[in-house]
Amino acid sequence: MEHVDVAVIGGGQSGLATAHALRRQGREPVVLEASAQASGSWPRYYDSLTLFSPVGHSSLPGLPFGGDPDRYPHRDEVVAYLLRYADRLDADIRTGARVREAATADGGFTLTLEDGRRLSTRGVVAASGSFGRPCRPGLPGLEDFAGAVLHAAEYRAPQPFAGQRVVVVGAGNSAVQIAAELAAHARVTLAARHPVRFARQRVLGRDLHRWLKVTGIDVLPVGRFLRTPPTQSVIDDGRYRAAVTAGAPDLRPVFSAIEGTKVTWADGSTEEVDAIVLASGYRPDLDYLRPVGALDPDGRPRHREGVSTTHPGLAYVGLEWQRSLSSNSLRGVGRDAARIAGRLAARLRAH
Ligand SMILES: Cc1cc2nc3c(=O)[nH]c(=O)nc-3n(C[C@H](O)[C@H](O)[C@H](O)COP(=O)(O)OP(=O)(O)OC[C@H]3O[C@@H](n4cnc5c(N)ncnc54)[C@H](O)[C@@H]3O)c2cc1C
Repeated sequence: MEHVDVAVIGGGQSGLATAHALRRQGREPVVLEASAQASGSWPRYYDSLTLFSPVGHSSLPGLPFGGDPDRYPHRDEVVAYLLRYADRLDADIRTGARVREAATADGGFTLTLEDGRRLSTRGVVAASGSFGRPCRPGLPGLEDFAGAVLHAAEYRAPQPFAGQRVVVVGAGNSAVQIAAELAAHARVTLAARHPVRFARQRVLGRDLHRWLKVTGIDVLPVGRFLRTPPTQSVIDDGRYRAAVTAGAPDLRPVFSAIEGTKVTWADGSTEEVDAIVLASGYRPDLDYLRPVGALDPDGRPRHREGVSTTHPGLAYVGLEWQRSLSSNSLRGVGRDAARIAGRLAARLRAH
């Protein structure tokens, strides 16, 4: 069995920022990435996706994103940036290496990969994101729906839905963005279980993220007080609010029943629907940690600001609200990664 200094599970922005921070601590991280390249889940996000944060607020530590700081980059530019970042990192990045299971051993861990290879280590950072674990809400009658049901994680582009009657369930950024782009091709309802709140993308002529930074809101360490993350506001340059106001998509409370392909709305009216898109978020994708008892019964990590409260050599990076609002973002993950790397390095030095 191979021994490695610290294993970082996941080669997306969280894993790469963690590897960068661990190198600065003099450690020798090995990044284990399931897919064929180290650019996280970004290549699998829907085709039209443009960052809600501008270039000036979208860099990881050690490498500027590059270009006009006020521009909002496309998904593919993020992929290219992360590949560049991985390329310049002085760390051992292994692609095609999916961790299947962790076990504890001699005060450290043994990791078994999907292909049967095994690694031992004294430090593990779980940075495997949440895209691999889409959350499917229990909605009345959904399991009996005879049309197409897909999660936003499986949605790519609006063209296959041309001419259809589509319901998008959700109230966050993905729900509104997907519903608005589908509405140019299909008849679309945005079915929300919570009120949809819009936040202006530019305030007093500057991007919202500048104000989150100068006010300190971005880094307020309130994450550990939040039992469930608050619903996000939809970041809007004006077009999404205008689309909803114009009724394309139209906004309604979520349906109360489904029979076959017939949906019953809260006001008692019914209609036939072709497809339901669930834009209902994600949960941390950490199943490989179940055997060591690091998770609660819902599969959420037991941690405090990313440091495991069950295993001292285990930590997390990239959790939503891990420490603050910016934890699960390009602009903020580097800060959390640096803290976690410092803590882990200190522990490894002491033991
Ligand atoms: C639709 C969408 C839009 C977003 N837009 C923005 C935005 O505009 N700006 C912003 O800052 N943030 C945005 N985010 C939030 C966040 O920045 C991204 O979700 C980002 O991809 C999270 O990076 P990550 O590295 O934590 O996780 P991921 O990008 O999901 O990377 C995790 C990696 O771990 C790998 N992995 C998983 N399990 C294993 C395993 N068992 N073994 C080995 N490898 C494994 C996966 O293959 C993947 O490459 C967005 C998120 C979504 C879903």
